[in-house]
Amino acid sequence: MNMQNKTSVSLDWKNLPFEYVKTDYNIRYYWKEGKWSAGDLVSDEYLPLHMAAPALHYGQEAFEGLKAFGTADGRVVAFRPVENARRLRRSSERIFIPAIPEEMFLDAVHRVVDANRSFVPPYGTGASLYIRPLVIGTGARVGLGPASEYMFIIFVNPVGPYYKGGFKPVKALIVEQFDRAAPLGVGDCKVGGNYAAGLGGGQYGKERGYPVVLYLDSKEKRYIDEFSTSNFIAIRNNTYITSKSNSILPSITNDSLSIIARDMGMIFERRPVEVSELETFDEVGAVGTAAVITPVNLIRYRDREYVFGSGDRVGPVITKLYDRLVKIQAGDFEDKHGWLYEIT
Ligand SMILES: *Cc1c(COP(=O)(O)O)cnc(C)c1O
Repeated sequence: MNMQNKTSVSLDWKNLPFEYVKTDYNIRYYWKEGKWSAGDLVSDEYLPLHMAAPALHYGQEAFEGLKAFGTADGRVVAFRPVENARRLRRSSERIFIPAIPEEMFLDAVHRVVDANRSFVPPYGTGASLYIRPLVIGTGARVGLGPASEYMFIIFVNPVGPYYKGGFKPVKALIVEQFDRAAPLGVGDCKVGGNYAAGLGGGQYGKERGYPVVLYLDSKEKRYIDEFSTSNFIAIRNNTYITSKSNSILPSITNDSLSIIARDMGMIFERRPVEVSELETFDEVGAVGTAAVITPVNLIRYRDREYVFGSGDRVGPVITKLYDRLVKIQAGDFEDKHGWLYEIT
């Protein structure tokens, strides 16, 4: 019955870490003299790259992250790839990378997932196929300026369920010693440079026992921006609250969860969130594609600790939102917003 199982490679799906796994193919497109090539499926894991490529020196690079899932009835579906195509377009525009047409992006996702169908984790394992598109400026150039040539690549990578024995809440530290992004910078774009800039803050948190760090707005240090690779959400009574800021990445997971919250009758607020509001929140989560929601049970801010829920117990609203989104992704709950894109 299960078509994926028949052809799946044998991997310990349930225990796969969020680490690189070699698959059969990646897909590559080249931009030269104003147009994109037709796209080639290749097995080589390495890129032929000129050492003077602006991606290497000046960070002219943008990327995406999304997932595909195996459903109970044997389909393979990608989750909201159109949104990733649009976001990549916005990121690219900001750093002068030529636009990747939406149809080309979707076709690339379709072709690369189809070619690696045996790496799509079977339904019921909780695992998924992580899809990583990236676009880089490649033509040789020494002075600062946009590259003359580009490469768009998508590789896929099976990843295990983020939470093996159920949800695990984490402690977060508000880092004021580092900024992730400036108000008029590129914090709202998924571009490589943001993440190198965030390594310092992340390390600072880890050394102090906090697996995740939360950034405040860099101008006033008064509003909550986001975690290093995930958006901030808070639940207060029947309200879903998330930050509004020019320097945060518009998360597709956050958008999806906020729609689910409204479907469930909750109130939705997207607005500047003052750090002083922390003591009023019932539940806090870090949201993004990799984990969907990481519940945060403690936030340290200067010499204060704000606790959410009790101990390792995860709040009921975050649990409900998580369960619903994961069910929709696996095809176990009605996809009434048309979020699933079938890889036929
Ligand atoms: C990718 C990313 C997110 C999460 O976005 P999703 O579309 O939900 O995966 C949040 N914040 C930052 C900084 C990110 O890079």
